[in-house]
Amino acid sequence: MALVFQFEASGEWQRCWLAGVINEDSEVTLGTLLTQLPPKVVFNFRRVDSINSCGVRAWISFIRQASAGRECAYEECTPEVVSQINMIPNFRGSARVLSVYASYTCGQCNHHRNELFQEGSNLPKELGTQLAPVKCDKCGGAMEMDEIEDEFFAWVAA
Ligand SMILES: [Zn+2]
Repeated sequence: MALVFQFEASGEWQRCWLAGVINEDSEVTLGTLLTQLPPKVVFNFRRVDSINSCGVRAWISFIRQASAGRECAYEECTPEVVSQINMIPNFRGSARVLSVYASYTCGQCNHHRNELFQEGSNLPKELGTQLAPVKCDKCGGAMEMDEIEDEFFAWVAA
C-alpha cells in the first residue's frame, strides 16, 4: 500500500498517523504532508509496513525540512524504524522518540510478539538498564528480545 497519512488532535500536539510503505513513491506524499504540518507533531509509525533505501532517503529529507521551526516526535516506532534510527542518526534528526516496539520470541513455544517501550514508563533511560521480564501470552514462558538489547536501544545514548 502506498504511504498515506492522517492527522488526529492530541492535546496541543497533532498526531500524524502514517500507514503503508515508505519508498521511492512516497516523495510526493511527504511533500504534501510537509505543507500541512502543525507546529507540534508526533509521527506514529505503527501502521508503516516497510521502508526501503529510497524511502529512507526521502524520509531524511522530509524530517530535516519538517523539523525547521517545529517540534517533532516519533511514537510506536516499529523494529524496522528503530533499526534505521540506530544506523542513520539523520533518520530521526532532532525528533524526540517517545515509544518503540521491540520484537520478542518465546523460548518455550516460539511465539512472536512486539513489546512497546514508552518514555516515562518502561523505556530505559540509559544503556545497560535491566529490562522488566516479558512473559509469553500464549504459554507464560520467558520471552527474549530478538536483538541485543544494548544495540536495539543504542539510540537512547546517542
Ligand atoms: Zn510461549
